[in-house]
Amino acid sequence: MKPWKKLLLLLLLLILLSQIPFAYRRYKLGRLHAAIVSLESQRQPSAIDDRLIEYRGVAHVHSFLGGHSAGTFQEIIAAAQSNQLDFVLMSEHPAREFNTAEMTLKGSHGGVFFINGNEVKTAAGDRLLLFPGDSLASLDSQLSTQEVLSRRPSGLALVAYPEEFKNWDTTGYQGIEVYNVYSNARRINPLLMFFDSIWSYRSYPDLLFATFYERPSESLKRWDEMIAKKKEKLVAIAGNDSHANVGISVNDSSGKTLVGVKLDPYQRSFRLVRLHVLGIPLDGQISDDGFFLRSISAGHCFIGYDVLGDTSGFRFAAKDGNETVIMGDEITLDDQVRLTVRLPIPGRIMLLKDGAAIKDDSGVGGLEFVAKEKGSYRVEVYLPQLPGPVGQQPWIISNPIYVK
Ligand SMILES: [Zn+2]
Repeated sequence: MKPWKKLLLLLLLLILLSQIPFAYRRYKLGRLHAAIVSLESQRQPSAIDDRLIEYRGVAHVHSFLGGHSAGTFQEIIAAAQSNQLDFVLMSEHPAREFNTAEMTLKGSHGGVFFINGNEVKTAAGDRLLLFPGDSLASLDSQLSTQEVLSRRPSGLALVAYPEEFKNWDTTGYQGIEVYNVYSNARRINPLLMFFDSIWSYRSYPDLLFATFYERPSESLKRWDEMIAKKKEKLVAIAGNDSHANVGISVNDSSGKTLVGVKLDPYQRSFRLVRLHVLGIPLDGQISDDGFFLRSISAGHCFIGYDVLGDTSGFRFAAKDGNETVIMGDEITLDDQVRLTVRLPIPGRIMLLKDGAAIKDDSGVGGLEFVAKEKGSYRVEVYLPQLPGPVGQQPWIISNPIYVK
């Protein structure tokens, strides 16, 4: 055999060998998919008697308005509908020439409620999610972080990208985006993702991301620390940071896509992680954005990685002699406070007090704990019955109950 033929053969063999791990990863995704499907059969009949209504939604969504994205309103509405979402928090980048918050989706469209917000970057480089947004957002880049927070007398202000945020001692923000899909995706090795996509994208597009999903440990630690330091409530949310701009396509002169693949369409992004809001609208109807902004500010919500199984039905409540409260609320410690957790699917419940795990039960459908000390108590839920690394990542992250 001629040397060049030998070399070619060797090269082919090497390429073939290099693909074995990816073929195996595809097989493992198949097993994960089967395990998630079988989780559904373990779903417990609803025994919730709290009369709260649970609303599913996503936060931190961009459209074509603020640049970086080509996503249309139609695509966003259709994706929210197909995911059966109740609400979407839009966070448009500001533009100097027009008010992106005023122009973006707002109010009810196709049965989904939209809240129009902005994502701004302050002069210090800190980024904030502001709901609702306003016409001054385009000037926020010239103001200090405290000036931006102070110029807004009402609404919801959240710290975005906490790993890059500097001015933690400022006042006026009500919460932290402890998880961001885009920040997580940036840590993925592109070469690994490329070959994984070739092998698995067609069959398991959602789960492909799930295998890379990591507990946002640094941000959670920062959140716990800031609650202790500020001695005030701080809500945690997850941001989908949906742009629908990752992928390749060839378009004709009118902009119509001829061939292409979009790796992060809204429909997929909205399936990964969601914010579940608990509450009762005053007149039984959601007629303005006040209900969602109030409920989220109050911490009446939890983060659910619904890609691993629908988290609807999760509850975390506290009771003492005469009152019952839910996550986000304060309760006074007279003698003792009874904390209760209820899961829609049995799993592992980790109860944390001031950021440290104080109870960790596996294979349970709920948990009761008598708190005799003051502190902020929160819950993380895991599904260790799922194979692979996702079994070690949180499925649910609750907001705290503050025992005062
Ligand atoms: Zn963003």
